[in-house]
Amino acid sequence: MSKKLFVPGPIDVSEDVLAQMARQVISHRGIEVSTLQEEITEKLQQLLFTKNNILLSTSSGSGLMEGSMRCCTLKRAAVLSCGSFGDRWYKMGVLNGVPVDLFKVELGKAIEPEMVDKVLATNKYDTVMVTHNETSTGICNPIAEIGEVTQKYEDIVYCVDAVSSAGGMKIEVDKIGIDVCLTSVQKALGLPPGLSLCTFSEKAKKRAEKIPNRGVYFDLLAINEYIENKNFQYPSTPSLSHMFALNFQLEKILKEGLDVRFNRHEDMARVVRSWAMEHFQIFTDVNYLSNTLTVIENTQGISVSNLNKKLQQRGFLIANGYGDLKEKTFRISHMGDYTVQDVNELLTNINDILGY
Ligand SMILES: *Cc1c(COP(=O)(O)O)cnc(C)c1O
Repeated sequence: MSKKLFVPGPIDVSEDVLAQMARQVISHRGIEVSTLQEEITEKLQQLLFTKNNILLSTSSGSGLMEGSMRCCTLKRAAVLSCGSFGDRWYKMGVLNGVPVDLFKVELGKAIEPEMVDKVLATNKYDTVMVTHNETSTGICNPIAEIGEVTQKYEDIVYCVDAVSSAGGMKIEVDKIGIDVCLTSVQKALGLPPGLSLCTFSEKAKKRAEKIPNRGVYFDLLAINEYIENKNFQYPSTPSLSHMFALNFQLEKILKEGLDVRFNRHEDMARVVRSWAMEHFQIFTDVNYLSNTLTVIENTQGISVSNLNKKLQQRGFLIANGYGDLKEKTFRISHMGDYTVQDVNELLTNINDILGY
């Protein structure tokens, strides 16, 4: 039985999008692929409100996290972390030999712009890495306000991990001044995992040109060069199947209407939050709630694993807390192509199992 996956990715993929993955492959060096990639770019530029180039990566989002860490940091990177995914970015810096410092806030709290300002005032850094939507705690960081801070410092390349938000929440990349905004396709974009993408600014490009050890596979400059000089192609062989599906799904997203889509996510979030407040508590600072997932504090001491086992028998799946927050919290995602009706159906089943 197929399940409805209310976990923060991967989530269910619509049948018509899946069917695109089954199309016959094409050459990755023909005019056809260039047209395909150019069409994807134009649509993603609309989705992310940017004129910057769009880089595709045949990897999950972590690949581009690693790539941006390597390719954008010349002096030293400041990673602002409010949970597991921020920590992961820091680890990538350390293990790639990139000079990097980690600045953490308490779990469930957001990264405040003032904190970023303080960090940057030291003049030690030339890149800032921030997670937009911290999937382990449900925090949605104020990336626009943080952008106002990074803009004050000429040297800073601003990188944002929007893996669990892009496609479900409005991110105005150019207005905010994000140099690299990266995401995976298996979360709010609603595709099978295996492809990721990012925006790439002129400033990021200039920075990367100065960096000798950018690696090979995740060398953002090389990917960018193939777009500029080889007319929308990719240095190695990309997942063409994903590209078909992404182009198709983006068409659907734009047809739905971006505001309609973002509002639908907000509506789903409202439903889950009010349910959570009725029966439990919201784990996350309520001033910084994400519209794509809700992290609920397990104030009733229920067994989350048992609940999930029973949910699975009914065709649903939610997520336990992440890392140390396992059983102390649980997570309900509401992203992609789901509707308020789907969310209500899930909550009705949870109520039924828990006897609410
Ligand atoms: C899921 C997630 C990642 C990791 O993405 P992959 O596509 O699994 O590599 C990184 N950051 C955030 C915020 C995520 O939610």
